[in-house]
Amino acid sequence: MSGNNKRCREILADRQDWKCIYCKTKMAKDLAEAKRMLSPIKTTTGMRVIAATWLRVTFEHIDPASNGGAINLRNGVAACEFCNNFRRDHDFEVAKRMFAHMVKHGLHPHQVFKKTGIIMVPHKGIYDIVKLAEQERTNANHSQRKNTNGATLKKHQGRGAAKHNTNSGMRAPSP
Ligand SMILES: [Zn+2]
Repeated sequence: MSGNNKRCREILADRQDWKCIYCKTKMAKDLAEAKRMLSPIKTTTGMRVIAATWLRVTFEHIDPASNGGAINLRNGVAACEFCNNFRRDHDFEVAKRMFAHMVKHGLHPHQVFKKTGIIMVPHKGIYDIVKLAEQERTNANHSQRKNTNGATLKKHQGRGAAKHNTNSGMRAPSP
């Protein structure tokens, strides 16, 4: 199984030019390579080890393992170890938006480490912030479309219901 996992993740990483599917950071194939990649950054040894650990490539399930998602190329992408761990069981599309939000604001630990040599991890509440922003956007679209086109509205409602289910699923794995 772990052999499959390694082969899978390296094939997927090649497809993505070794860039994490979420944060687009260049990933390392193992800890030694990650340490070499981070060697120009001035920091303490402990911080470098943690940052290097997070830079390693991992097999990332699109459909989470907790949901029965398998380890194969169809259900996989390559993600850095930090994004993989921080995603937990969140929906793949939600996680993508969440990490994009993090990167946009310079809050991703890889970015912070590169800039400061310090490890800083965003609070998990960042998911709630993204969720709120999405809800606001959905509501805005909703009221906008309401007066224009009934068919669009119907389609939109369907999507909203699906999103709602995803959100309630997101709460479950919280610590
Ligand atoms: Zn990442």
